[in-house]
Amino acid sequence: MKAGVPDMRPAEWAPSSWRSCPALQQPHYEDADELAAALAKLAAQPPLVTSWEVLALKQGLAEAQEGKRFLLQGGDCAESFADCTSPIISNRLKVLLQMSLVLVHGLQKPVLRVGRFAGQYAKPRSADTETRDGVTLPSFRGDVVNGAAFTAQARRADPQRLIRAHAHSALTMNFVRALIGGGFADLRHPEYWDLAWVEHSPLAAEYRQMVKAIGDSLRFMETLAGPIAGFSKVDFYTSHEALLLDYEQAQTRLVPRNPGWFNLSTHFPWIGMRTAALDGAHVEYFRGIRNPIGVKVGPGVTPELLLPLIERLNPDDEPGRLTLIHRMGNAKIAAALPPLLDAVKRSGRRVLWVADPMHGNTENTSNGYKTRRFDNIRGELEQAFDIHAAAGTQLGGVHLELTGEDVTECTGGARGLSEADLERAYKSMVDPRLNYEQSLELAMLIVRKSVRG
Ligand code: PEP
Ligand code: MN
Repeated sequence: MKAGVPDMRPAEWAPSSWRSCPALQQPHYEDADELAAALAKLAAQPPLVTSWEVLALKQGLAEAQEGKRFLLQGGDCAESFADCTSPIISNRLKVLLQMSLVLVHGLQKPVLRVGRFAGQYAKPRSADTETRDGVTLPSFRGDVVNGAAFTAQARRADPQRLIRAHAHSALTMNFVRALIGGGFADLRHPEYWDLAWVEHSPLAAEYRQMVKAIGDSLRFMETLAGPIAGFSKVDFYTSHEALLLDYEQAQTRLVPRNPGWFNLSTHFPWIGMRTAALDGAHVEYFRGIRNPIGVKVGPGVTPELLLPLIERLNPDDEPGRLTLIHRMGNAKIAAALPPLLDAVKRSGRRVLWVADPMHGNTENTSNGYKTRRFDNIRGELEQAFDIHAAAGTQLGGVHLELTGEDVTECTGGARGLSEADLERAYKSMVDPRLNYEQSLELAMLIVRKSVRG
């Protein structure tokens, strides 16, 4: 606790102490006994991650705060149970590995790879209910809560989905761990991650050239030093918006050898923009866990709101603990971000600044699609680099919604997707994602921007 700052924290913290605070965005379960039984089952099941992995990521994030690493965090807006399949999981991993290769090569620093997966099943909604043709039902809140179909049965908050979400997270996690542990991520074999498009993309030549340069350097070093074990394996961490507090509490555990409470459903939970109120249940829950944590910061956040939040969530200024993910929008970032950077810098508090150029740039097209323009995404990201440079702070990572599939959800990019193209392959249940090609283009852009300014 800093001198002169009153300790506003409630005296006691427990995994359940959030229950005495206002909890936004939580579903209403009809049957309390059924919910309690599902939560008891969940609490007895094994965790998805371990405390030492969580602490290793925190250490990596501490290094990113010092400018020694760059964070790449990406994945679906919302995972779905139906998309828990081998091609979707491996294609998403491929795109993230390709992007990280581009970043490692271009930025000349290690990249921390964090997926928005293996638990990204809960979604905040702007309204509790949805009305269609005079029928009003509860909103779809993600597969961990209810179904997307517009029927009373699907939209009922179903406690069994808590168990299914945990199981699907474990399936995803298991496959990712097996792929990575089995050499899929070997830097000497980036051809393992090739997606069919690489053959015909306008970006293919630049990517191929980069892959060749890395291969040449690795072979040169191994000629000198013999096989280098680290090249065959990369670390991959998971993250999700820890929105559904019943679920998160059930996965919050004490472990034998590391003190304190860990959320073992993911390495890196974050608080969404809509639930980041200082006195709200999410902040209360997050302040007590030992994981590294993220907070989304939107254009409505002022220094007066942000500084107490930093104090509450990281009172001891622990390295690696707190990541602030700004998501302002291309039109707002120039006005909204500088005062925050300035205030945090003057406070002397340690944070990792990360840009989410997706969530401030969502719009609706005249033909009824929720989309994002690649130019706005790129524009916000480029401005973010410039604004940080001008403030003397460091942009230490990016947070993206992307998929390894050939979807048409965001317009623009190297292929110039138009609004009319959206209907060809629009698959997202919630927010529009970058497709593989737009994702790689963004990675190349990050390199150009941060190397050349
Ligand atoms: C999200 O990351 O999908 C999301 C809802 O973001 P935000 O909280 O920034 O709106
Ligand atoms: Mn989203």
